[in-house]
Amino acid sequence: MIIKKRKYDHSSIEYGFTSIVINGEERPQCVICNKVLTNDSMKPAKMKQHLQNVHPQHKDENKNFFERHGNAVKKMRLVSTDFKENKQKVTEASYFVALEIATQKKTHTIGENLIMPCSLKMMEIVLGDEMKKKIAAVSLSNSTVQRRIRNMANDIKDQVGQEIKSSAFGLFSIQLDESTDVASCSQLMVFDRYVHAGLFKEDFLFCSLEQTTKASDILEKVSLFSTQRIFCGIVCVGAVQMEHQLR
Ligand SMILES: [Zn+2]
Repeated sequence: MIIKKRKYDHSSIEYGFTSIVINGEERPQCVICNKVLTNDSMKPAKMKQHLQNVHPQHKDENKNFFERHGNAVKKMRLVSTDFKENKQKVTEASYFVALEIATQKKTHTIGENLIMPCSLKMMEIVLGDEMKKKIAAVSLSNSTVQRRIRNMANDIKDQVGQEIKSSAFGLFSIQLDESTDVASCSQLMVFDRYVHAGLFKEDFLFCSLEQTTKASDILEKVSLFSTQRIFCGIVCVGAVQMEHQLR
């Protein structure tokens, strides 16, 4: 059954209603209480009923009164849209800087101690105070940078995990390497290889810092990572055992 969608008629402003589009559907919105009704309530009788029952004190107001309120509602919508768009841009800029800090292997505090003060000063000198205020909204504090890097790392892990799961014929391989750093701690690195979208892909899967790198330690680490993040541990555990048997 096809449900008929009602269209807003500008004369409905005399009942105190303007219109708003939500998910591609036009709906009536009360200019007094901002309540959005269903598309079916676009009928004059229903809008009039809302005005008389909910706002009886305004039922005899003229068209100009409702138009004034309608313009205020539209202005509020614009401010709210601007705020949302600005918030998105500010978050995107913060993620961009966090990514650069991570790829350049700089300390997380460089954002608040160097990048932000320099950016603000440059904006003030070249573009003025207004632009400086906009840049100041980008959060580059130590904790924010740390959180953004962690979010991006988790997202990459999830993406790689999904690609491995959907690898052609369910096949993939992993390669492990261990070495000892200057502090005599053992570093374990795990790489993976799989087929995705018809192409062979190789990724760095994860790394781990260990006190010892006995076969059982490595087995436990890889098994834990695989069950938490990617695949049924059995295949992975088998691969680790084989790797160690070959040594
Ligand atoms: Zn209302």
